[in-house]
Amino acid sequence: MFKEEREELMFDWSMLGDVAAGRPNLGSTMDVNVYRLMQFTLRDVLIKRYDTDTADRIFYEAGQHAGRSFCAELLNKNAEFNDFVVELQDKLKLLKIGILRVEKADLDAMRFTLTVAEDLDCSGLPVIDETICTYDEGFINGVLLEYTGKNFDVKEVDCWCSGDRVCRFDVKPAI
Ligand SMILES: [Zn+2]
Repeated sequence: MFKEEREELMFDWSMLGDVAAGRPNLGSTMDVNVYRLMQFTLRDVLIKRYDTDTADRIFYEAGQHAGRSFCAELLNKNAEFNDFVVELQDKLKLLKIGILRVEKADLDAMRFTLTVAEDLDCSGLPVIDETICTYDEGFINGVLLEYTGKNFDVKEVDCWCSGDRVCRFDVKPAI
């Protein structure tokens, strides 16, 4: 699974295993701090070993990969757009990833402003005047890529860490 060299991404949803069988006492949930501990230490190492741009690109690509898998596995790709968004909102809330809202939508131009409140990655972090949710940018890109077959530019413009109370993402078709 992780000992094979690879030129292509190999993650498959089945790699997540049977959590119910494996954790009969502890179950499928855990503390948010543990998720952040893993993500932020990994990011720390990537920045130290490479640089911030490379770390960001790796996080974006991993988020995109996760978003594609998430969409393929958990969402109905054949749903109409509004139904698709409702299902996405429901899943993100159910899995306690965040509370997604569509703040602005121009369906003709496929441009959107999305907000995520209580975001798993950043809500409650120290305010440091940075937008940090690179993984989320990639995740949204991946979900939309899997759903539409088209590539989107996803940019976080506000973040808990930049002093806002939600993460806000500008989404537009990639040129
Ligand atoms: Zn954020």
